[in-house]
Amino acid sequence: MTAFPKSPLSLWLAEYGPYQEEPPLTGNIDVDVAIVGGGFTGIATAHTLKKEQPSLSVAVLEHEVVGYGASGRNGSFAMTVVGLGFSVMAMLKGKQFVKDAHAYMERAVDGLEELIRENNLQCDYTRPGFLRMATSPSFVKRIHHEIDLVQKLGIGGIEWLERDAAREKVNSEMYLGAMWEPRLGLLNPAKLVREEKRLALERGAMVYERTPVEEIRRGAKV
Ligand SMILES: Cc1cc2nc3c(=O)[nH]c(=O)nc-3n(C[C@H](O)[C@H](O)[C@H](O)COP(=O)(O)OP(=O)(O)OC[C@H]3O[C@@H](n4cnc5c(N)ncnc54)[C@H](O)[C@@H]3O)c2cc1C
Repeated sequence: MTAFPKSPLSLWLAEYGPYQEEPPLTGNIDVDVAIVGGGFTGIATAHTLKKEQPSLSVAVLEHEVVGYGASGRNGSFAMTVVGLGFSVMAMLKGKQFVKDAHAYMERAVDGLEELIRENNLQCDYTRPGFLRMATSPSFVKRIHHEIDLVQKLGIGGIEWLERDAAREKVNSEMYLGAMWEPRLGLLNPAKLVREEKRLALERGAMVYERTPVEEIRRGAKV
């Protein structure tokens, strides 16, 4: 077991206890795919490539430890929200964009849940759903406006809860109603990224930690 780095870690990373780092890269290696950075993007790319094409040699090179960047510091929500909400995004990017982006995010949330279940990734995953509580009459109006737009766009899975139904979920007299979307997962991001590292290793990818990439040269392989 190795100690955590001296630079500050997120609470998620710091709380997770002893962690088995992969050794740094020493010397030269030749691989089909070298991935810079061991966050969700890099580690998921590694295990997905190995799943799709097991014969590829794949190496992840991580400057500190896996999850050291945003992936080990995030808020823990797997949710469909894109940007600033449906109405604002429709104004900025158009209605088709909102529809397509929401469909993409639905696939992302469901796909992550599938990945976690299929591979038994131990990351404290739960699916509590998403409540956007209205605390004033103007907020109620704003949420109704959002729901009207969602329904006009043919997006399902989001509904208005009247006051009593909202209070059944979270009991506060401040709540006048809520927007309810069951499709929201909560997880421990540090555990998830480390479990995805385990999956990448099991599938045969190489992961090197404490391995800063100092230069990338683009061009044909010689
Ligand atoms: C405070 C916060 C809260 C968030 N909350 C949420 C949320 O609730 N839900 C959600 O879906 N998203 C959330 N996000 C966004 C999400 O965490 C990021 O989109 C995601 O983690 C990005 O992953 P990544 O792998 O692309 O980047 P990172 O996780 O940042 O990974 C990049 C890695 O590259 C390494 N690296 C950098 N330079 C080099 C180099 N030269 N050589 C080798 N390695 C290098 C870094 O050390 C790092 O580990 C949040 C982000 C933040 C910051």
